[in-house]
Amino acid sequence: MSGLKELGAFGLQVPAELGGLGLNNTQYARLVEIVGQHDLGVGITLGAHQSIGFKGILLYGTEEQKKKFLPRLASGEIIAAYCLTEPTSGSDAASIRSGAKKSPCGKYYTLSGGKLWISNGGIADLFTVFARTEVPDATTGEMKDKITAFIVERGEGVTNGPPDKKLGIRASNTAPVYFDEVRVPAENVLGGEGNGFKVAMNILNSGRFGMAAAMSGTMKGLIQKAVAHATNRSQFGNKLHTFGVIQEKLARMAVLQYVTESIAYMISANMDSGAKDFQVEAAISKVFGSEAAWSVADECIQILGGNGFMKDAGVERVLRDLRIFRIFEGANDILRLFVSLYGLQSVGKELRSLQKALSNPLSNTPLLLKEGLRRARR
Ligand SMILES: Cc1cc2nc3c(=O)[nH]c(=O)nc-3n(C[C@H](O)[C@H](O)[C@H](O)COP(=O)(O)OP(=O)(O)OC[C@H]3O[C@@H](n4cnc5c(N)ncnc54)[C@H](O)[C@@H]3O)c2cc1C
Repeated sequence: MSGLKELGAFGLQVPAELGGLGLNNTQYARLVEIVGQHDLGVGITLGAHQSIGFKGILLYGTEEQKKKFLPRLASGEIIAAYCLTEPTSGSDAASIRSGAKKSPCGKYYTLSGGKLWISNGGIADLFTVFARTEVPDATTGEMKDKITAFIVERGEGVTNGPPDKKLGIRASNTAPVYFDEVRVPAENVLGGEGNGFKVAMNILNSGRFGMAAAMSGTMKGLIQKAVAHATNRSQFGNKLHTFGVIQEKLARMAVLQYVTESIAYMISANMDSGAKDFQVEAAISKVFGSEAAWSVADECIQILGGNGFMKDAGVERVLRDLRIFRIFEGANDILRLFVSLYGLQSVGKELRSLQKALSNPLSNTPLLLKEGLRRARR
């Protein structure tokens, strides 16, 4: 950890004037790829800190928030965590129960709630926390129950449980975090009152391509191991790599790695050139990359045979570490739904206007005739 801090790895995308390395998304992906090739647990420690833990401050922070928190976060002096998940709220993130009540003077909120499986939860000093708040409706003034994002510093009322015992990424600290009547200054609201759900989703959307980059690096490492074994091990009087079945496996592994790498860098390049609409591609990259890496790890073990099953070969750890990537930061099942539903949004809007027109066909005859003709032609 201290070596990585010295390298600047805790503030890769923090602007240089605030103490970070100021890397763009493509440069960030290059480094994430290298970390992913070596240790996914370390990758998650770094990712939970900057890809989600304090990403909200980079995306939505005020100048004051950025100046106050980013220098210490970028140097690694303080570690960040992202607190969304709760015991009764996982994929259905909008159902969180943690709540924050504004003080009558308006100067602070009192925040309470319990968050589950928080990466860096036991070691973090700063948390991006999502909680329900009563927010006045802009037009009617009526109070509405909405999610707000808060920057919460470790202090009175903030505690955590022991580190969770896990299948993989054991180098990464995962722990429950509890907030018990924590006083949060009003200036620590992130992205505006009532905008917390959007903040939460956009933090995840903007970091997902990094997961594909990490998976690309992991697969490179696995392919190197498989190739080294296949070119050294002989059976039936020939090296393994001379067998067609092994060649096919290696070819498929290389294809999966190449596609994942290509998607990751296509998205990072689009983001770097100012694109704002990348969330569907980012979701696809996370789903594809995590499943591709799982399959490559499995085939790597197969090529290594019994050796692959042994701890010393170092692949069983990679397989265990990889399993979580299909679950967190949006379970793949949910992201598949997101891709299809988001894609259908414009069609839905079109059909809604047609439905409206159908309720009064006489005054909408030209529109309905045009649509009828279009469909008949199709
Ligand atoms: C090691 C680890 C680290 C984590 N780090 C963090 C962190 O730093 N911060 C944080 O906030 N959270 C974190 N999480 C939580 C993680 O984001 C959640 O586990 C994830 O969002 C899924 O929620 P869940 O586990 O409650 O599963 P559930 O939402 O209960 O889903 C269970 C299964 O049902 C499927 N499912 C659910 N709804 C549907 C549906 N409508 N249609 C089809 N299938 C569905 C899911 O895909 C999944 O396979 C972490 C979890 C782990 C294990």
